[in-house]
Amino acid sequence: MEPKKILVAGGAGFIGSHLCDYLIGQGHGVVCIDNLSTGRKENIQHLLKHRNFKFIEMDVVHLHRPGVNFSKFWGGRVDEIYHLASPASPPQYQKNPIGTWQANTIGTVNLLELARRHRAKFLLASTSEVYGDPLVHPQTETYWGNVNPVGIRSCYDESKRAGETVCMDYHRTYGMIVKIVRIFNTYGPRMDKNDGRVVSNFITQALMKRPLTVYGRGKQTRSFQYIADLIIGLVKMMASSKSFIGPVNLGNPKEFTIKELALKVLELTGSKSKIVYKPLPPDDPQQRRPDIALAEKTLHWRPQVSLHTGLKRTIEYFKITLL
Ligand code: NAD
Ligand code: UDP
Repeated sequence: MEPKKILVAGGAGFIGSHLCDYLIGQGHGVVCIDNLSTGRKENIQHLLKHRNFKFIEMDVVHLHRPGVNFSKFWGGRVDEIYHLASPASPPQYQKNPIGTWQANTIGTVNLLELARRHRAKFLLASTSEVYGDPLVHPQTETYWGNVNPVGIRSCYDESKRAGETVCMDYHRTYGMIVKIVRIFNTYGPRMDKNDGRVVSNFITQALMKRPLTVYGRGKQTRSFQYIADLIIGLVKMMASSKSFIGPVNLGNPKEFTIKELALKVLELTGSKSKIVYKPLPPDDPQQRRPDIALAEKTLHWRPQVSLHTGLKRTIEYFKITLL
């Protein structure tokens, strides 16, 4: 396979850094751009000296900053662009709602323009949040969702929906190859311990002997996908036939209540921490589980890593970084 020149926007984040690792491992050239707002240079520290890897600290909202010449990094060529540059955790995107909205709308247009100029393929990391608090369960790609357009999650949900729209418009207007992936809750090593997502919160709390904070009664459900499974799905989607645009769900169809997740983390860490109940945040989706029939049929993809195995690997990572 001929090595490609690939741009990963948001490549210093949790998912992006694993994607950079995978692509470098396959012999491709990778330019990672990231504004380090929720990502960390430590995530890509081991790649910084690699001859096929370049990091540029940059905001996708201001991609055309004077003085930055992308061409010099890839000799005038880019084959693929992955757009992952957006905060992903509710506390993080709610801290900077306007920046989040901009990253997923203006940032998406900027990166699409770059892809258009280079005739590159473009993949958008969209989200299961486009389904909002879903009235259809499990969620299929044909479901249009139940999203509050003016709530505290809207900066993320609605901007991802707008990002999907503009991808389709670039595809219809210019015939560009675009790929839309709706990612369901993903976890694993390199999650930021402070970013407020449920898996990193529970593991950190259990290891630090602090109470696990379950919001509401913990009866809401999520389906947790291990990072390695997602990376394979993203790469398969980018490589899929040019007529397959998606949107396609990538997630693990095994569904758990948040209380079950808390108990599983306590079991696997051997922690004696208690569970405390905190108010449920507004608009928190009550149930979420992907229907992955489309990914199975089109990409021949299915998650391989169970919650048990994935949590054990993630706990090992947090033990090293926390203790
Ligand atoms: P993350 O916060 O770890 O990574 C996001 C990265 O993007 C960070 O490195 C951050 O610094 C960077 N970034 C944010 N805004 C930027 C901007 N304006 N310009 C340049 N860089 C910017 O989150 P993640 O979990 O790795 O998520 C990556 C992508 O996947 C996001 O687009 C997110 O919406 C999507 N996603 C993630 C999940 C999940 O469960 N992790 C679920 C659905 C969708
Ligand atoms: N949650 C929780 N305790 C926490 C963090 C989150 O009970 O410390 C709940 C949250 O209310 C939601 C679920 O866990 O119902 C998943 O939250 P997360 O922020 O990880 O992602 P979401 O799927 O809501 O985007």
